[in-house]
Amino acid sequence: MDHFQYHDHVLYCEAVPVRLLAETYGTPLWVYSKKTLLHHVHVLQRAFASADPLICYSLKTNGNLSIARLMREAGTGFDVTSGGELYRALLAGGTGDRIVFAGVGKTDEEMRYGIEAGVLMFNVESEGELDALAAVAETLGKKVAIALRVNPDVDPHTHVKTTTGKRGTKFGLDWDRIRSIGQKLVGHPWISLQGLHMHLGSPIYTTEPYRQALDRAVPLIAQLRQMGHTIRYLNTGGGFGINYRKQEALPAEAFAEVILPAVRMTGCQLILEPGRFIVGNAGILVSRVLYTKDSGGRHFVIQDAAMTDLIRPTLYEAFHRIWPVEPSPDVPAPPEDYEAPIPNTQLCDVVGAVCESGDYLARDRYLPRLKRGDLLATFSAGAYGIAMSSNYNGRLRAAEVLVDGHHHRLIRRRDTYEDLVRQEIEI
Ligand SMILES: *Cc1c(COP(=O)(O)O)cnc(C)c1O
Repeated sequence: MDHFQYHDHVLYCEAVPVRLLAETYGTPLWVYSKKTLLHHVHVLQRAFASADPLICYSLKTNGNLSIARLMREAGTGFDVTSGGELYRALLAGGTGDRIVFAGVGKTDEEMRYGIEAGVLMFNVESEGELDALAAVAETLGKKVAIALRVNPDVDPHTHVKTTTGKRGTKFGLDWDRIRSIGQKLVGHPWISLQGLHMHLGSPIYTTEPYRQALDRAVPLIAQLRQMGHTIRYLNTGGGFGINYRKQEALPAEAFAEVILPAVRMTGCQLILEPGRFIVGNAGILVSRVLYTKDSGGRHFVIQDAAMTDLIRPTLYEAFHRIWPVEPSPDVPAPPEDYEAPIPNTQLCDVVGAVCESGDYLARDRYLPRLKRGDLLATFSAGAYGIAMSSNYNGRLRAAEVLVDGHHHRLIRRRDTYEDLVRQEIEI
């Protein structure tokens, strides 16, 4: 469910026509719906209510301060993966007691920052990291809480670049090592083992990977407790899939049905780290057609967004629905199925201006005939959109707008040329 809907061949975000936003703020433009953001937080809160979970919004998904603040006001904590994200979480009003710190490559400086900010726990991913964290904790004279991030060796059946809970990826500790690490931590002066963490991959469209991982986690928690550890937290990470193509995503209740019984069995406090599920369908990327051209037997729609705005299609072969913001009346608006042939359309590659053949938002896509000046909406782009954007090719990172009913507000201004060179030092 989202609040980007066509009425009489005009795309609205909540009560605002998207064309108006493009005209007011320029393109390319990120448009977010506040109602949709909050709806998804509430859906998760409701589905997992019986466990009263700590929902730590995954800040790497979309870290905009206004969105982060909205999340905090809706009751979430934060999942951060770096010192930079911790800084952002604190700026947005987050408090350490609701922040979990993940990442395979935390530096000593980041650990110090995390300890000083009083983060709820570090999710530890290697034995080397444990030693480093213990050393930092000792210099600060503070005992730190941790969860062990276990690599449960399950296949989430998602893209190879977003598979994180399978043996052979860099993430987490091999599950057959957890017991011996647990033994080493018994009575540790600086580290208090309090939880088990996993994050299997993303996006996930079946409950099976969670079921398999929890089948391993539950007995592991019992064994760690037998060693004398007070295991209070079970963190199942993020990964819940969303609708990119049509209605392919599972409802939150389906994941809850698998996760909640395992949590109950352990008596742990549940931590969730959703990112995409909250913000993915709450944002679109609006762009303007510059040119169309036929070349080499293909029809290209060249528009003013690029892989520097949304890299997911070329990085993950990800599918994003694309449709005109104001399609002409002879075209269905929008189609049920974007992948089947659509009447009155032509097969297009939607590309940007960057000097890379991988610079596309979509390939082999049916779109109505487009002309210079037409506006396009790329849907389900709120997650890993601007967060992964860059200034490559001297491109300006786009503006972001938050819509709330009839109101709209700039929440990030577009880069300027001066921004591009601001940090450089000429010699
Ligand atoms: C990226 C990430 C998440 C968020 O994943 P989503 O699929 O966006 O929900 C959660 N936890 C960790 C450790 C991550 O790396």
